[in-house]
Amino acid sequence: MENFRPKSTVPFFCLQNAEILEEWVGLRPCRSALRVDRERKLLGAEWKPMWIVNNYGQGPLGVAVSWGCAVSACELVQEILTADSRSKL
Ligand SMILES: Cc1cc2nc3c(=O)[nH]c(=O)nc-3n(C[C@H](O)[C@H](O)[C@H](O)COP(=O)(O)OP(=O)(O)OC[C@H]3O[C@@H](n4cnc5c(N)ncnc54)[C@H](O)[C@@H]3O)c2cc1C
Repeated sequence: MENFRPKSTVPFFCLQNAEILEEWVGLRPCRSALRVDRERKLLGAEWKPMWIVNNYGQGPLGVAVSWGCAVSACELVQEILTADSRSKL
């Protein structure tokens, strides 16, 4: 991100033309709503139907909500495993 200058630096006029030496933060992955769900997709060379559990988009509240999201994601995995084991009986 060459020449990227966040608006927050604007009040610091002395920084407006300062040389950027190093970038040490990343962007927070965010979307309009976080996503915790499961979806069935055809994957791999053989287009096998497989389950994917999505758990992303927590954004700036990520650390706080990650615990609950992790529990929900685990429950979805458990549901999938339980349903798969039943379908083989
Ligand atoms: C640049 C940036 C800044 C952020 N700033 C904030 C902030 O200020 N405040 C805030 O609340 N949130 C912030 N977040 C969001 C927050 O970091 C995340 O939402 C939160 O860490 C998600 O927690 P998690 O446990 O779900 O996932 P993660 O913290 O990503 O943990 C997943 C773990 O699983 C491991 N893993 C992945 N695949 C495998 C595998 N196959 N086998 C074994 N281990 C695996 C990974 O190595 C990782 O340790 C920020 C995120 C980013 C990227």
